[in-house]
Amino acid sequence: MENCIFCSIIKGDIPGDILYSDDRVLAFKDVNAQAPEHFLVIPKEHIANANDASDEALMGRLSITAANVAKERGFAEKGYRLVMNCNEYGGQTVSHIHLHCLGGRQMTWPPG
Ligand code: 5GP
Ligand code: ZN
Repeated sequence: MENCIFCSIIKGDIPGDILYSDDRVLAFKDVNAQAPEHFLVIPKEHIANANDASDEALMGRLSITAANVAKERGFAEKGYRLVMNCNEYGGQTVSHIHLHCLGGRQMTWPPG
C-alpha cells in the first residue's frame, strides 16, 4: 500500500534490520526499542489492524515466528511479551498490523 512505512520496508524501499523473512511474514528490529530485545513481526500483505484480520493461519504465523526468532536470539527461555496494539485506544501508530516481541528484561503489569 502507498504511504505505508511497513510496506516500504517489505519492498526494500526503506531499510529495516531484518531478522527473518519468508513468503508471508517479515520480522525486523523496532527502530525505537522499548526493551533490550524488541522486534516486530508483520504480514507481507497490507492489513491495517486486528479488526481487519481474518486469516487464522497468517495470524498464527506471526506468533510462531515471534517465538522462533526469540528462541534464535536466546531470550525465549527467560521470557518475553507479545503485544498487538489496535487503533487509538490500543496505541497503534503504524496502520499495518504488527506483533511486537519485547524481551531481555523483566516486564511489568499492568501495561500503561
Ligand atoms: P505501534 O505503536 O503502532 O504499536 O508500533 C509501531 C512501532 O513501529 C513503534 O514501536 C515504532 O518504534 C516502530 N517503527 C515506526 N517506524 C519505524 C521504521 O521506520 N522502522 C522500524 N524498524 N520501526 C518503526
Ligand atoms: Zn502496509
